[in-house]
Amino acid sequence: MTQLDRRTTLAGAAVVAFDPMTSQWLTSFPENTGAVPSPPLDGELVTDGASLTEAATDYGHLVHRRPRAVLRPGSVSDVVAVVRFANEHGLTVAVRGQGHSTFGQAQADCGIVIDSRTLATIHEIAPDRAVVDAGVQWLDLVRAALDVGVAPPVTTDYLGLSVGGTLCVGGIGGASQHFGLLVDNTFELEVVTGDGRLVTCSADHERELFEAVLGGLGQFAVIVRATVRLVPAPAMARVYTLTYPQVTDLTAAQRTALADGRFDYLEGQLVPTDDDGFAFVLEGGAWFTSAPPDDDALLAGLAPSGVDVADLPYFEWLNRIYETVEQIEALRLPGPWLNVLVPNAATDDVVSELLTTLTPADAGGVALLYPTTRSLITRPQVMVPEGPVFFLLALLRAVSPPDDAEAERLIAENDVLYAKVRAVGGTNYPVNALRLTPADWRTHYGERWPAVQSAKERYDPRRVLTPGQGVFEDVNRAPGTP
Ligand SMILES: Cc1cc2nc3c(=O)[nH]c(=O)nc-3n(C[C@H](O)[C@H](O)[C@H](O)COP(=O)(O)OP(=O)(O)OC[C@H]3O[C@@H](n4cnc5c(N)ncnc54)[C@H](O)[C@@H]3O)c2cc1C
Repeated sequence: MTQLDRRTTLAGAAVVAFDPMTSQWLTSFPENTGAVPSPPLDGELVTDGASLTEAATDYGHLVHRRPRAVLRPGSVSDVVAVVRFANEHGLTVAVRGQGHSTFGQAQADCGIVIDSRTLATIHEIAPDRAVVDAGVQWLDLVRAALDVGVAPPVTTDYLGLSVGGTLCVGGIGGASQHFGLLVDNTFELEVVTGDGRLVTCSADHERELFEAVLGGLGQFAVIVRATVRLVPAPAMARVYTLTYPQVTDLTAAQRTALADGRFDYLEGQLVPTDDDGFAFVLEGGAWFTSAPPDDDALLAGLAPSGVDVADLPYFEWLNRIYETVEQIEALRLPGPWLNVLVPNAATDDVVSELLTTLTPADAGGVALLYPTTRSLITRPQVMVPEGPVFFLLALLRAVSPPDDAEAERLIAENDVLYAKVRAVGGTNYPVNALRLTPADWRTHYGERWPAVQSAKERYDPRRVLTPGQGVFEDVNRAPGTP
């Protein structure tokens, strides 16, 4: 085999070349054209229909932009080679982790999608840290870490997300009140910058790059490896489900619990009721290994109208929604999600007004509302409201049965609600189905925008990376594309 066709395959046939005039990948090398050899790889570059369709699909089923090739990297060098190749030929590149975006954020129209599932090795688990490839799912890391008595200090509610995908957005959960976001618990990253340099960065080395990439929506570099914090893990979780008749009773109890940090985990939900309304539920978790928590102390002053207490193994608690999410995913429902961060002082008004029109059908079954502590959220790319406390309001909508018009209506509602939240100093937790223009992103970043722009110029000057987020104008459209 020649070097050209050795390791790059196209559904059985080898991809040997790329035609920059048409942006087509070729299985034979045409004479006397401008075609160039495709990069030699340890993994594979595929262009079969099933792979392209998968790369044009995500959890939201609302946006479908088809790449022209999918890289399944066999090594970090493959990521470097493909990002450099994209720079040379004006192609865009997006990494797809677990594809749990809702609005095409991991897609690359006519470009190359890097499927990070083939870079999924857990390299090391030490008492205080783990070194993992970006394609590792948190579920796999949690399992391996718990085997030796440790765990990440904060986890997302659903563990079937990739490390790289969550570090690109932030990673919030019920333990963020004590530990900040996943990005705040990341010590070091190995990345491939948008211009194709493999760099190790941390708070002490290449800090600007490190801070740009954490919560950076894939705009500056591809994360290939991360070193993340681990802490001693408890054996058990005691979970308190406290019910309130009014949303303001819920938020008052949450503020009380947040202020003294009594729970290890603090979240809350708007739970649909039989009469087409909502009940308001505080979810508090207390971890233990031998002596169980003191129920009276934990419930003091919270005044719920209903109390449910359950003990379960810590792993079962962390992994509590995995199967439910898989079942929802199998239905392929449109998911016009909206996640916003609302200043504490505005939360009661924003949510009370929302509840005058929100139906359980609009909320799609799951709506989260919980406060967290701002001071622990330190990565500058993650935009959070001013003030010591803010609330996450997450409408995790699913349109069932699937209905395009209804999905459109809810996306339009997202725009309206986001505008209201912005008007009171709130921000977008960026995993949403929102039609954001580059101008909207400038507003989102506010005073940080010049730093965002300069990091783009420095690390991804040709705007190769992650076009699906829509943060920057697309200067990279392939010839022949609309
Ligand atoms: C059921 C469900 C529950 C969730 N729960 C939570 C939660 O509790 N807390 C929370 O914070 N979030 C939560 N999320 C949101 C989730 O964290 C984000 O959508 C996350 O980006 C998804 O990870 P992923 O691996 O699927 O990423 P993808 O959707 O594959 O990618 C997300 C973005 O990151 C980019 N990207 C992915 N990997 C890399 C990489 N290695 N290098 C550079 N860029 C990369 C992609 O191009 C894309 O722009 C939830 C999502 C779902 C569907």
